[in-house]
Amino acid sequence: MAGQNLNSPAADSLPLQPVEVVKGVGPRLARHLKAKGLITVEDLLFNLPLGYLDQRGGLQISRLRPGDYVSFVATVLGAREVQYRRRKIYEVILSDGTGVVTAKWFHYGRWLTQRFQRIKGSLRVSGTLRVFAGKLEIHHPEIEEEDAGTEEDGGGIVPRYSPIPGVAPRAYRRIMREVVDSFVPQVVETLPDAVRQYFKLLDLQTALRQVHFPKEFPEAEENKQLSPGLRRLIFEELFFLELLIIRSREELARETGHPMVLDRDFLGRVGKLLPFSLTKAQKRVMREIAADLGQKRPMNRLIQGDVGCGKTIVALLSALIVISNGFQAAVMAPTEILAHQHFVNLKPFAEPLGVDLVLLTSKLKSKEKQNSREAIASGEARLVIGTHALIQKHVTFKRLGLVTIDEQHRFGVLQRLALRHKGGSPHVLVMTATPIPRTLAMTVYGDLDVSVIDELPPGRTPVETQVIDARQRKKAYELLRQEFTRGRQAYIIYPLVEESEKSDLKDVTTMTEHLQKKIFPNTPMAMLHGRMAAEEKKKIMTAFASKKLQLLVATTVIEVGIDVPEATVMVVEHPERFGLSQLHQLRGRVGRSSHRSYCLLIHEGGGRETRQRLAIMEQSNDGFRIAEEDLRIRGPGDLIGVHQAGFIDLKLANLVRDADTLAAARKAALTLIKKDPELTKPAHAAIKAKIQRQSLQAAELLKTS
Ligand code: ADP
Ligand code: MG
Repeated sequence: MAGQNLNSPAADSLPLQPVEVVKGVGPRLARHLKAKGLITVEDLLFNLPLGYLDQRGGLQISRLRPGDYVSFVATVLGAREVQYRRRKIYEVILSDGTGVVTAKWFHYGRWLTQRFQRIKGSLRVSGTLRVFAGKLEIHHPEIEEEDAGTEEDGGGIVPRYSPIPGVAPRAYRRIMREVVDSFVPQVVETLPDAVRQYFKLLDLQTALRQVHFPKEFPEAEENKQLSPGLRRLIFEELFFLELLIIRSREELARETGHPMVLDRDFLGRVGKLLPFSLTKAQKRVMREIAADLGQKRPMNRLIQGDVGCGKTIVALLSALIVISNGFQAAVMAPTEILAHQHFVNLKPFAEPLGVDLVLLTSKLKSKEKQNSREAIASGEARLVIGTHALIQKHVTFKRLGLVTIDEQHRFGVLQRLALRHKGGSPHVLVMTATPIPRTLAMTVYGDLDVSVIDELPPGRTPVETQVIDARQRKKAYELLRQEFTRGRQAYIIYPLVEESEKSDLKDVTTMTEHLQKKIFPNTPMAMLHGRMAAEEKKKIMTAFASKKLQLLVATTVIEVGIDVPEATVMVVEHPERFGLSQLHQLRGRVGRSSHRSYCLLIHEGGGRETRQRLAIMEQSNDGFRIAEEDLRIRGPGDLIGVHQAGFIDLKLANLVRDADTLAAARKAALTLIKKDPELTKPAHAAIKAKIQRQSLQAAELLKTS
């Protein structure tokens, strides 16, 4: 085993060395790093800067440009709490003699106010500079006390990393300096020379050095050109993703699964149970699935269909085909709520057909879990609905014939591949409402065949969408009141921002109280958020589905898949914090019957750009068009919202910006696999080792999730 440049055993073990081997990292620091997922030296090396600060010569406030991420040294002129509408904000006036900037915190605690009471000398302040009412502002900046020893930065170009709780930015930079100096020389080259030469890529060591501590200021964002170092690392990331996809496609082609026969009698009985007839698109997709299921080679198919197009029934019918052949079928949903909803919805079909149905989620009581697992292992449970819990090690199926993954975008590529290895080559059906633009489909779903449900069930009227200013919130309340008197139901959604989850949660709680006491005293309502116990969530969702509740004030936990036909109004607060595709998903919770439905996006502040972006929601009900817009404006990282970004498993690449690199990486991966399918050549040892590491990590992920 040897890399291309180095033969020492240390080289091969470098990636697995724990962060503690870095000089200056003790148990305390290590704990904080681990909490951020930085466990090995390799993790540190590949945790790249978000950007850089140009501290050459030290910038004065008067020379800073609004819109830039800036860093300056200033003293505090004054600090105070200010009452602003319903909440308090903390304001600190800063100056360096050439200009004044007001720092604002919308969420803060005593730690902040006390810190400012303590601060005597000057501060380094970093964040995005804005202009508000003609004055310079900076929101939630990073602050560092300057006289605590600034020599490490010493001006120059300073990398800016994603903040790590408990580790001061400067301390982190010092660690990275040490990592780059001591460990980069041990990094093993992964790409073969030929690939590097052909695509004009830097070697890995140079690339890493350049990305962490560049000698020149990378003007990347302005002229859209990536630094050679970054381009090399992006290529690497895409190359390994493509290898994974290509290899798994080939692996699958060699597998033999279980061909199923269609029992027309049985399907006739199923048909009689359906309260509606299938749409043309549903029928077409069913034919495609049935044809796949009849093959020896396991099916591996993606169903794409806008929210509300009726994917669940397709999943059910597919499951029944497999079940009538004597196999088990599993449906995996991304959340407890959705799994439970599927369970409740599918029961009325399963029971009259004599199909035993079980639910398995990690939140069940251990006795219930035990029962479910036994029924799955004995083969008695024919249709199994669950969450991630389904793919854990101790769950074994007797005869698994089909796995359906609902709302695929919540699961990563690796998880999907791992699931396939659960019990003797089952057929796999993947369902998503996130329309993946064609440019991405090849990369993300390169190993899947695709079917599209491009038709909604008859009688749906498109949801009427309106963007309204927060000052006109009353209009929204009037509409809600009108719909409540008609017996309809509604959702009000609040975004949760990760870093300040607690305070946002408080917002949801206070808002619910406010709505109940002051606005809708006679409307039965409840609050729903991710931090609630599963039991509690289930109770609330069931109450809402059975119309015991009319209003649900929720965070995005309800975002995917929830199906309550009588719900006709969706109000979204702070819509600007969501991606358009995510808003479209939210909107899909209403308009699920022939009743006229509404979606109101209540935005507060935000510029013309925000307003324009939201206007797309008013103009279009087409998930595809919305996704394309989203992609154009925000890039794929945000396509499905911050919380769901995992589905592409990419840290560095932006599939729109890096489309060329992607094509190159795909080409390189295809060539490699053709030349050396099993990666047995010595020159490819480093590639093989990295792939093995990745699949180990995936296995870990599955165990813990
Ligand atoms: P999604 O594709 O978003 O998962 P669902 O499967 O939840 O959509 O279906 C949305 C709603 O449409 C459900 O209430 C379902 O019963 C109903 N539905 C599905 N197919 C049809 C159809 N062919 N005709 C009428 N209603 C349908
Ligand atoms: Mg669904």
